[in-house]
Formats: sequence, C-alpha cells, structure tokens
Amino acid sequence: MAKPDHVVWHDVLSYLRGHHPDMCRQWFEEIDPVGIEGGVYLARVDQSVRQRYLHRQCTPQFTDALQAVTGRLVSIRFLGPDDAPPGVTHNGSREESASSTTHAAHRSTGYRPGALVISPDYTFENFIVGPENRLAHAAALSICANPARTYNPLFVHGGVGLGKTHLLQAVCLRLLARTPPPVIYYVSCEEFGTQFMDAVQAGQMSEFRHRFRDVDVLLIDDIHFLTKRERTQEEFFHTFNALFQSDKQIILSSDAAPNEIPDLEERLVSRFQSGLVVQMQPPCYDTRIQIVKQKAKIRGMEFGDEVAAYIAAKVTSNIRELEGAVVRVHMQHVADGLPIDLGLARTALETGPATVRPEVTIANIIDAVVSYYGVKLTDLQSKRRQKSIAHPRQVCMYLARQHTRFSLEEIGGYFGGRDHTTVMHAVKTIIKRRNADGDFGRVLEALEDRVRAPSPMTNGTPPTRPPTASAM
Ligand code: ADP
Ligand code: MG
Repeated sequence: MAKPDHVVWHDVLSYLRGHHPDMCRQWFEEIDPVGIEGGVYLARVDQSVRQRYLHRQCTPQFTDALQAVTGRLVSIRFLGPDDAPPGVTHNGSREESASSTTHAAHRSTGYRPGALVISPDYTFENFIVGPENRLAHAAALSICANPARTYNPLFVHGGVGLGKTHLLQAVCLRLLARTPPPVIYYVSCEEFGTQFMDAVQAGQMSEFRHRFRDVDVLLIDDIHFLTKRERTQEEFFHTFNALFQSDKQIILSSDAAPNEIPDLEERLVSRFQSGLVVQMQPPCYDTRIQIVKQKAKIRGMEFGDEVAAYIAAKVTSNIRELEGAVVRVHMQHVADGLPIDLGLARTALETGPATVRPEVTIANIIDAVVSYYGVKLTDLQSKRRQKSIAHPRQVCMYLARQHTRFSLEEIGGYFGGRDHTTVMHAVKTIIKRRNADGDFGRVLEALEDRVRAPSPMTNGTPPTRPPTASAM
C-alpha cells in the first residue's frame, strides 16, 4: 500500500473549500489520509458518526476533488475507528473485510437499518441555548444523563427550522458516546410507516417489532406525519406502550402540540401528553447572533460582530434560513476572495436568488428619511439647498439608486427636478461619507433595513436621531 501524499490531501481540502464550500466543515481538517490501495484513497476519522456521515453525504464531492487534484480516476473510502488499519485483510477479499468491519462498527454504536444519518454537527456543544429552547434543551440533557428516568416520553414541538432535529440528534450523539452505548433507534416518522407497510406485506411483523421494541431509546422525528394511515397509528400505539411499559425512553418531535395534530387518535394524544411536552420558539435577536457566529465557526470562518448582527437582523424567520445566509456569505467569500465584512455580507444576501422580498418603493424611502431626519417631503422635492435638507435629499437619492430600479433621470426628476449628474454626485457623496464615518454608516444601514422592511423595525434598534441636525 502506498503512503498518501499530504500535499495532495491538502489540495483536496482546498479544492473542496473552493468548489463545495457549503459542504465543508472545520473538522474536515482532522480527517487523516492513511493510504492508497488500488486507486482508492483511504481516509480515517476518529468517530463512527463522522465516518458514516462522510460516506453517506460527502463521497461524490471528495471523489470529484481527488480526481481533479490528481488527474486520475481514483475514489475514496472513509475508515472509522473500528475499521481495521489499511492493508490488514481478514480472510477473503477487501470488500468483505470492509463491510464486515462496518457492521462491527454499527453494532458497537447501536446502529440499526433505516436509521437516519446523524450529522456530526448536531451536537449539544453546537446547540445555542436561548430562552426559546432552554426547556427543551434541559429536558434533552437530563434524558441523556438518565434515559427513561426523567421525562418519558419527551415531546418536542415547534415550527420548521427551529432545532427539533438538531436536538434529537444531539441526544443520539451524546448517548452513542457512552460506553457501552445504549441501543438507540432514530428514524423519521415516514420511515416508521414505510417499514411497517413493508413488514406487513412481507409477513415480517416479528422482525419489525424486534427492530422497534428491543431498543433502549426510540427517537421519532416529525411524528405529526403519523396521521396519514390508521393502521400505522395503531401499530405505533402498541410500539409506544411496549417501550413505555418496559421503561424505555421515547423522544418525539412534531410541528404541532399533540392535541393540535389533526386526525391523531385520542389515545395517542393522551400518551404523548403523559410525559413532558415542550415547545421550541423562534430565536430572538441575541440568540440569532450567537447562532450565526457558531454556524460560521463550524464552517471554519469567523464572523465579526457587525456581520453577525447584520445577518441576525436580516434573517428573522427560522434557523435554517439563518444558516442559509451564512452559507451564502461563505460562498461569496470564496467566489470573490475578499475578507468577510459587512460589504461582502451585503452583496451575498442582497443579490442572491433567494432574496425574495417586496420591491422597495420610493414611498418606503421617503417614509424612512422623513421620519428620521424630520424633514418634509415638499422640502425634499424643493430646490432648497441648505444642508439640513440637501443631506437627507442625497440620502433619498442614494437609497433610491441602491434599492429601486428607477433611472438616474427619474430619481433626479422626482427630487426637485434635478439632472442625472446631481444624482450621481449624491450617491458618491453618501458612499464616501459612509466609508469615512462609522456613525453615519450605521444610520444608513438602519435606514436601509427600514426601507427593505417598511413595517416595524425587525432588529429592535430603530435609528435614533442625532441631537442636532448639524451632526449631519
Ligand atoms: P427542525 O427539525 O426544527 O425543522 P433543524 O433541527 O433541522 O430544525 O434545524 C435547522 C437548522 O438550524 C440546523 O442546521 C440546526 O443545526 C440549526 N439550529 C437549530 N437550532 C439551533 C440552535 N439552538 N443552535 C444552533 N443551531 C441550531
Ligand atoms: Mg426536523
């Protein structure tokens, strides 16, 4: 077996950062290239979860990178802690030895077929705790310390992208790190339904029951999908009872509280309510800032306060979107090769295809400027040149130029019948001042936020007017 070339490996990682930035994680640095065997690169990681994740989610990208870097038709195989060192074959072919060691790894981590792939990112360490999820987080932690001894079942519910799956997987990861690990089974509700139907058709109900009932911890994600089929509900009811009666832990996630899931049988509603039901809420501004920073960190970046605050103010809906914004900034950073600052973040989030927002109107701009500067619209549209009016007028022109599709002529015409060179000059003046004067930069930013989201300010920091107009 040939020794791997560390330069090649280094290039592979850079290639991935350039071509698949959304996939890259900080911990990829810890992957150890251990050998090359018959055109297969062997790379080792120290956790089975990472190995399974790389194998299931990242193989094509790594293969692509290896082929691009080496110019040869090579492939990759990820080895986990339980895999034999490369070159050591058991009786039989390489294939057999690889698959048998993988099965050994599955056994030792309580892996079962059909289980969802666990993301190595979804740890407790990577879970930011805020008032919105504190209870759910605490309940999940106490279950890890004492499965089936505290809250059973634990029923976590909340809207999309608020961290339910992350929390369930954090429990899996924490439990799998125990020695010996308990037998856990983590599946989606759909998987439960599919496996049940398959078992019915194949006449393999006893295997099915063994798979779901001979476990220490059963976690089912998105249980609200259970309502689709009656027989599945019936089977789940029995599964639940069997586990509960033998003191096994059950953890469920759902997009709604038990009594709000349509068509859920009453007896299931009451089972679900018999343990702890906790809701996860959308994250507040402070939590969002922390999440943004943390998402950047696991992707090997550091976002400053300004960038994090900008993203947190702009993306308010849920955490998945917040992460999407971090990925867009990362991609922009890779594409432009520029440092990650506010300007880059703006470009990333304001020009990308996902920025579906209502069009900014001149009325939005005027509202924002008039209420901030305390000037009148008639003044803005007049020929008056005194500074207290000329400056807000320039801000209007700048905002109109940046956020609407009106031409220079149209903008000039609207604000006091001026020609296009006046508008160009105004835009330049504002940009220059924004770059030179941090306070003004922040005022402008707040105005821009307000123009984009004309209803109440979303980030809780409405611009406050400076004490005197001369400060402008
Ligand atoms: P859900 O299952 O509720 O729809 P997910 O668990 O899939 O949501 O979360 C969506 C994304 O948001 C994931 O990338 C997850 O890591 C992230 N996320 C959610 N909550 C948190 C949190 N408290 N801290 C860090 N990341 C979070
Ligand atoms: Mg989910």
